[in-house]
Amino acid sequence: MENLDQRNQIIEYSLRLNSSNLSPLRSGNISLRGKEGNIEGYLITPSGKKYETLKPEDIVFMGLNEDEKNDSTNKPSSEWRFHRDIYTNKKEAHAIVHAHSPHATAVSSHGKPIPPFHYMIALAGGDDIKCAEYATFGSEELSKNVIKALENRIACLMSNHGQVAFGKNLEDAFELAQEIENICHQYTIALKLGQPKILSFEEMKKVLDKAKNYKKG
Ligand code: 13P
Ligand code: ZN
Repeated sequence: MENLDQRNQIIEYSLRLNSSNLSPLRSGNISLRGKEGNIEGYLITPSGKKYETLKPEDIVFMGLNEDEKNDSTNKPSSEWRFHRDIYTNKKEAHAIVHAHSPHATAVSSHGKPIPPFHYMIALAGGDDIKCAEYATFGSEELSKNVIKALENRIACLMSNHGQVAFGKNLEDAFELAQEIENICHQYTIALKLGQPKILSFEEMKKVLDKAKNYKKG
């Protein structure tokens, strides 16, 4: 079978979505940029399958220029459109994690960006975390809204839905999704105490400059 290592890696991280409670059972989806023969594309979790039942052959390969296959017994994730559009628009994206993590989902239901109440907001790539406008799951419109919210960012919320994060590999994309969930947890606690103090644009600029050299393995 082609891309067996990548298929197994997707399963490993899907099981982590389950066990970490980041997106349990069948919610959320994961993909990895890849090739089949000389076709550029991505490998993605199938639609509606419980993570604990996944086998390598269940992972679906989709070409970047391809729409959903009719002959496929395994349907790709219903969100293949935004996975494809992220790979097409962001050359640096090699792995994507979409999760219905509890706090990110709760914050997303407000449909607003998260301001810099904490400097770690910078992890998403800028001085706030954008929230993609609501559209029906799996729709072209949702994909357009996600791409807009990811402008100059590597993660965003999706209104009344959850979050999406990408990275140079699955480890980074998964870690970022966990960080976004942590930030949203902290934000929900902060909001319970009233309106949090928001860091200035100048301070966030300093943080963003410093953050470039922060991560060490
Ligand atoms: P899939 O099982 O089709 O990937 O759907 C899960 C999901 O999170 C839809 O937004
Ligand atoms: Zn979803």
